[in-house]
Amino acid sequence: MGRCPTGADTNSPFGASGKKGLQTQIQTDIRQEIEALLGRQSIQGLDFEAVEMAARRQALRLAARALEQRLNADTSDHGGPQLPCACGASAQYHGRHGKTFESVLGPLLLDRAYYYCAQCQSGFCPRDRHLHLEMFSLTPGVLRMTASAAALVSFGESSDLLRELAGVEVSASQVERAAEALGAEIAVDEHNCVEPAGDVAPTIYLGMDGTGVPMRNSEVAGRAGKQPDGSAKTREAKVVTAWTAESRDDQGKPMRDPGSITYSAAIESAAARDANPDRSDFAERVLREAIRRSFTKAPRCVVLGDGSAWIWNTARELFPQAIQILDRYHVKETLHRTAQAIFGATSPEAKPWAMARCTELDDGKLSAIIHALRPHLTASHEVTKCATYIFRNRSRMRYPKFHSQGLCTSTGVLEAGCKIVIGTRLKRTGMHWTISGANAIIALRCSKLSGRFEDFWERRATQLAPAA
Ligand SMILES: [Zn+2]
Repeated sequence: MGRCPTGADTNSPFGASGKKGLQTQIQTDIRQEIEALLGRQSIQGLDFEAVEMAARRQALRLAARALEQRLNADTSDHGGPQLPCACGASAQYHGRHGKTFESVLGPLLLDRAYYYCAQCQSGFCPRDRHLHLEMFSLTPGVLRMTASAAALVSFGESSDLLRELAGVEVSASQVERAAEALGAEIAVDEHNCVEPAGDVAPTIYLGMDGTGVPMRNSEVAGRAGKQPDGSAKTREAKVVTAWTAESRDDQGKPMRDPGSITYSAAIESAAARDANPDRSDFAERVLREAIRRSFTKAPRCVVLGDGSAWIWNTARELFPQAIQILDRYHVKETLHRTAQAIFGATSPEAKPWAMARCTELDDGKLSAIIHALRPHLTASHEVTKCATYIFRNRSRMRYPKFHSQGLCTSTGVLEAGCKIVIGTRLKRTGMHWTISGANAIIALRCSKLSGRFEDFWERRATQLAPAA
């Protein structure tokens, strides 16, 4: 639309017959390059690694030159002497401008029609928009590789991996900017894409948990926190996890189904704001994940969490029908910590005492635990906290009943969720985040870990595709 046909299709040196010619030419060139690499040396004494790396480099270089020629020969992106600018004024044609993009084939020097708008003093190239080249001089293929790496490892490590594995040059700061920009897109997509996916399982589990993310000083200035001077060094990322457990182990106990876990997380509030008195940002996130997983459509839906009040407030508000279970792993951790508070961390008495309480817990004898805590109530604040915790959550700790119903009460998914989604990527030594940077990488990581990256990428390609 608005593009002036320049007859490039008929003039193209790589038209219908040209394509075939190009293919043959590349094949011949590659064969020649490989002959040149190997020379007359015997295959026995070959440094295979050196040869294969060099061969790949040459093959990619040839393909890059061919692609470059093909794209630069096509000048159909020239849309006449002027084009409408986004600001409403007209942008004037200023000739063809060359720019180097980092592609999967290595650097590509592309000439594109350039339009400059005097009104808003900015320029644009229609082709960049059409080919999805607007993200930091990276082609879509490199952008995708960059995002895949940065979801898993640090920006510096991503840069190294891209060079080592793909022969692609993306600096650590480019990785950071590209991954954060793409992560922000994924976060928007997560808000918009809430279609139910997959079958409805007989029982669906939904877990919530929180963990601190180390922040840059500017992001926590003036906030109250857990530091000795009352300041904060972290912000809490909240994670919602959904999974099923229809599999059974050899004793018939429910086991988490492999590949059934999905994650959604962000540094955001679980308290309703004045602007939205109904639901907090995190409650909205939980609801979206619940819809995607058909949580409330399941004959049985279960919410698992630790003792945090926001978890149970959110659960009560969104899913009054759900069975609430306090993650047994978390309770046992609390009992061990309490034992150490009573007897001292290194005392030989602590462990057997904690083990006895854990057995009582498994047997549903909560009053026996309270009874055992009672003599120590004055000894430590930790003991009072533990007793209150058990009393308040008693209905969520009816483990024998839950087990007789075939429900999971301790899957490790909750604890692992925070570690997998947040800890292993965002809490490494020396890392300090901005909220927007952390949330972008968290969104990217959740998309990857939940098997949703491919779908996102397809939607992205469709949404950005130029109107025919
Ligand atoms: Zn303009």
